[in-house]
Amino acid sequence: MIISISGGKGGTGKSTVSTNLAILLQEFTLVDLDVEAPNDHILLNVKLTDGIPVKLFKPKFNHEYCTGCGKCAEVCNDSAIILNREGRPMLLEELCAGCTACKLVCPVEKAIEEDFKVVGYIYENETSYGFKLITGELLEGEERTYKVLLETKRKALKEGKNLIFDTAAGAGNSIFKALEGSDIVVAVTEPTPFGARDLEKILYTTSYLKLKTVIVINKSGIGDEEEIVDLSEKYGYPIVGRIPYSEGVIRSYFSKTPVVKTKLPEAEVFQEIKERILEEVKCS
Ligand code: SF4
Ligand code: SF4
Repeated sequence: MIISISGGKGGTGKSTVSTNLAILLQEFTLVDLDVEAPNDHILLNVKLTDGIPVKLFKPKFNHEYCTGCGKCAEVCNDSAIILNREGRPMLLEELCAGCTACKLVCPVEKAIEEDFKVVGYIYENETSYGFKLITGELLEGEERTYKVLLETKRKALKEGKNLIFDTAAGAGNSIFKALEGSDIVVAVTEPTPFGARDLEKILYTTSYLKLKTVIVINKSGIGDEEEIVDLSEKYGYPIVGRIPYSEGVIRSYFSKTPVVKTKLPEAEVFQEIKERILEEVKCS
């Protein structure tokens, strides 16, 4: 079973929901796909170790063999190859998407050698709560989010059947890719105008992808929930839980003690959310 935790806006509490659900569900591997800013390991007090590099192809020109025909520069959609005054190709590395098209069209054997650059890492670590955490992390200054996300997702799918994907904020292409194949999407939102606006983006995305979706309202009590209720009715996606905005939840966040491991009344709310999610999946 794949449960994806999403929500258009950043800071709505996706990671809080993901980590607490992972503790309650136990048999699941938690996968942090928020590769630009993964933070599940921080909430779970896990040190990321033994990262596997995510490598991207880049061409290495061998000027001994290169004839300067320019075909590699012509085919490059990212304008990552320029020809110098002598007509020799030069790589603008930060523009290279690693598609290998230049190598494929080059008519001269050995004129382009294979080289790689590391754009991120994938970590696989045990947590002290009895489940595994897989984390994708994009290197600072790198832009190949998609590549790191796909490799992390691929690795997770190879390793386990029961997965929780904690996705990034937003509703762009990489979120599409992260959500694809989910049995259920949990859209975490907050009762603010921005929360509702971004929730609609994610609900639109999941309805387009025909994915079963439920809504969790975090920080319940800080604002009007009417807009969220309207969206729930408009898309036919039920609200399966309201996590109150409380001092206890905030304290548990900063002390890195997951709410479900405290005696706070909110721990019960997470338990109910878990059960509602499982019921919804069973009904599909
Ligand atoms: S396509 Fe090959 S031979 Fe032609 S310029 Fe590029 S590297 Fe050189
Ligand atoms: S690998 Fe693709 S993006 Fe990079 S230089 Fe070659 S054609 Fe351009």
